[in-house]
Amino acid sequence: MSNDPVIMKPDANKGLDDKLYTVKYEVDEENSHLGVIDPEACIRCERKPCISKCPAEVYRWLENEQELEIAYENCLECGTCRVVCPYDNFEWEYPRGGFGVAYKFG
Ligand code: SF4
Ligand code: SF4
Repeated sequence: MSNDPVIMKPDANKGLDDKLYTVKYEVDEENSHLGVIDPEACIRCERKPCISKCPAEVYRWLENEQELEIAYENCLECGTCRVVCPYDNFEWEYPRGGFGVAYKFG
């Protein structure tokens, strides 16, 4: 019998959606911690990378309204949207104390 240590690997069959389903949120119903500074910049923004790069699909482009819909309650607070926005167009802050995402470690 081998004495090699048993290495537990993450469940490779679990998709991102399954993993995100386990994340817990305390939603601040009164305040969004995300917003855009200049909505006109979003109209000019050709690729709108915030939409494709956000792992939690927080952003959606509303074609009729020509504006960004922001489902802030799903935000994982990773900061990616701030980095990828070519117009530095985000108002971004952490949710108020006691609200936001709660990660489970281990
Ligand atoms: S990347 Fe920035 S400018 Fe472009 S749509 Fe998103 S928030 Fe607007
Ligand atoms: S911080 Fe991360 S999860 Fe939250 S909206 Fe930005 S990219 Fe999406």
